[in-house]
Amino acid sequence: MFKKYPPKRFNFEKIMYRIFKKPDKFNQPVLFPGLLFIAISLIVLMFFSSCNADLSRNGSAQNTNEPDNKINGTQTGQENKSSQTGLPKVLAVESFLADITKNITGSRLEIETLMPLGLDPHSFEPSPGDVAKIAESDILIINGSGVEEWLNDIITGANDKIIIVDCSKGLKNRIQDENSTEQGLNESGQETAAENGTGYRQEGDPHFWLDPNLVMVYVQNIKDALQKSDPQGKDLYNKNAEEYTSRLRELDAWIKEEVKIIPPDERLLVTNHESFGYYADRYGFKVIGTIIPNFSSASSPSAKEVSSLIEKIKAAKVRAIFLETGSDPKIADQIAKETGITVVTELFTHSITEPGGPAPTYIDMIKFDTKTIVESLMPGS
Ligand SMILES: [Zn+2]
Repeated sequence: MFKKYPPKRFNFEKIMYRIFKKPDKFNQPVLFPGLLFIAISLIVLMFFSSCNADLSRNGSAQNTNEPDNKINGTQTGQENKSSQTGLPKVLAVESFLADITKNITGSRLEIETLMPLGLDPHSFEPSPGDVAKIAESDILIINGSGVEEWLNDIITGANDKIIIVDCSKGLKNRIQDENSTEQGLNESGQETAAENGTGYRQEGDPHFWLDPNLVMVYVQNIKDALQKSDPQGKDLYNKNAEEYTSRLRELDAWIKEEVKIIPPDERLLVTNHESFGYYADRYGFKVIGTIIPNFSSASSPSAKEVSSLIEKIKAAKVRAIFLETGSDPKIADQIAKETGITVVTELFTHSITEPGGPAPTYIDMIKFDTKTIVESLMPGS
């Protein structure tokens, strides 16, 4: 039979005694607090694990459903802002634009890159996963000027509220050389954002970024958009943009010094497609010709165009053909056989490299290319 239990140490004991009527068990001063502690711990653990399970279930459901919803245009860019921070989600199409943007945002924003490293933006084919990434972003950083023509088909359906930052906005495009093949441009070579209705322009040469002096405009355009979207970060973006701009100024001065070793009349370039026009203009080079006579690499030359290039190379005594990484060297090799020209295959122009590679940032990329060009064209090389 139960005997009367006079609790001496714990009120809990009294409660348990009333419930279980087992005085012997609960009367033990060491065992009882130990059991009580284990019981409470178990209850707390079960409570938190059930919360976590709910959270992860909700999270995975969201991840699965979001892209589909957004591809159909039912979610807006404004709804994409991180629920934790309220800060905009930024997606840059090209890796060099992501790097430039990171220099402006510092660690305040996370910047994602759409295109995998090493791929050519002129001929990029976005996957459904890429469309989902666009759908989930608030700000999309593009080069503009027609590089990302493939965006035309997907941007409206993917995310019609997304803020598109056209980095090259405000810059005047070089227009195709009269001697080159047609580019499909209108008479003036210009097509405005309003005309094509996409928010970005299709014009002449889009490769402004190979001249760091022009990238200062990119920095302004990116900074302005970030400040509008995230006013609280305004001072940080201002400060970082100024610092990065002065680094670009230093890079510009550094290139001018580096190329001095090449006599001006030997600063001759032949490249894969017409990407070095702005660089050439800025640093005193002359582009004698390109294998693909087009601002886009997404085409190929005719036999007539190749033989015309061979004649130009011979006449100008060009010393090297520079190919971007990933270019098909077949035609360059054929030209080299006929002219004795050197084929240089490792220029990074449309993508930076992975960390630890030769061009992990935009500034590294331009430095690497400059060194490669200088080493190939300097007297005695
Ligand atoms: Zn290009």
